[in-house]
Amino acid sequence: MIHEVTAKTLLSSSKQPDPWFGIKYTMNLYRGCQHQCIYCDSRSECYQIENFADVIVKVNAIDLLKKELPRKRVKGTIGTGSMSDPYLPLEATRRLTAQALEVIAENQYPLHALTKSDLVLRDLETLRVISHVYAAISFTITTADDELGKQIEPGAPLVSRRFAAMAQLAAAGLLTGALLMPVLPFIEDNPENITAIVTRAKDCGATYIVASFGMTLRDRQRAYYYAQLNRLFPGLRQQYEQRYGKRYSAPARGAARLEQVFKETCERHGIATCMPFYQPAPPLQPALL
Ligand code: SF4
Repeated sequence: MIHEVTAKTLLSSSKQPDPWFGIKYTMNLYRGCQHQCIYCDSRSECYQIENFADVIVKVNAIDLLKKELPRKRVKGTIGTGSMSDPYLPLEATRRLTAQALEVIAENQYPLHALTKSDLVLRDLETLRVISHVYAAISFTITTADDELGKQIEPGAPLVSRRFAAMAQLAAAGLLTGALLMPVLPFIEDNPENITAIVTRAKDCGATYIVASFGMTLRDRQRAYYYAQLNRLFPGLRQQYEQRYGKRYSAPARGAARLEQVFKETCERHGIATCMPFYQPAPPLQPALL
C-alpha cells in the first residue's frame, strides 16, 4: 500500500560526516521500501515503521528541501538511500528523487546516493551537474549471482542490471562504486562471491567498494529474516541460532579471511576500499599587495 504524509522536516544533520560515506545531511523522501530485501535493518523496532511493505511518500518533500537547503550554513554531503531506496519502482512515476536532485544541483550541494536500482540512470544529466561539486553513486551488491539476488532482494532490480548501470555511470565520468554489505552468513560468505563482486565491479568502472563482512540481527529484523530463511533455506535458521543466539552482530564465517581476500583483490584491480569523500574547496587567499 502507498500512503501519503506531509512531513515537518526533511533533512536531518549530523555534527560530523559519517565515516562510511562522509554524509552530513540525510534525506529520505520515502519511508518503507518496495525492494523488500529479506535482511533489511530498517525493519528494526527503533525505526518505528510498522509495516515495512507499505511505502510512505513525503508529498511535501521538495518544498521542504527548497526551504531547508538555502538555510544550511555548512555545505556537506547530502546522503540518500539509508532507510529506503531513493529509486523504488514507485519513483519512476512519483519522481521525488528526480526533483530533489534538481534542487540539490541548483543549490550546488554534494550528494551521495545509495541504491539497488538502475532507475538512477534516468537522472544521469542532473547527476552530472551535481558532480561539478561532488556526486557519488553507490550500488549495494551483496552477491554476484542474479538467482540468489532474486531470492534475497525480491523487489530490487537484478544484480546484473546494477552492474550495467554502474558501467554506464562510470562511462559518463561519474564517481561510482559498490557497497558490499551485508554479507549474509552461510549464504554469501565465501571467497568466490567476494572476488566475483570485486572483479565485476572493476570491469564496470567502480572506483571504490566499501565492505563489511557480516550482518545485523535485531528484534523485528531478525524475526522477518528468520521467517524468510525457513521459507528459502530450510535448516539454516537453526544454524544461525546456534552460532549467534540473540546477538545483534552476526559476523560472517571467516570474516577476517574474507576481508583479506577482499582487500587483496581490490588492490590487484586498483579499487579503493573506502569512499573518496567530498572535500570542500579551500577559501580563496586574499591577494598579497
Ligand atoms: S533496498 Fe535498502 S532499504 Fe530497501 S529493503 Fe533493501 S536494504 Fe532495505
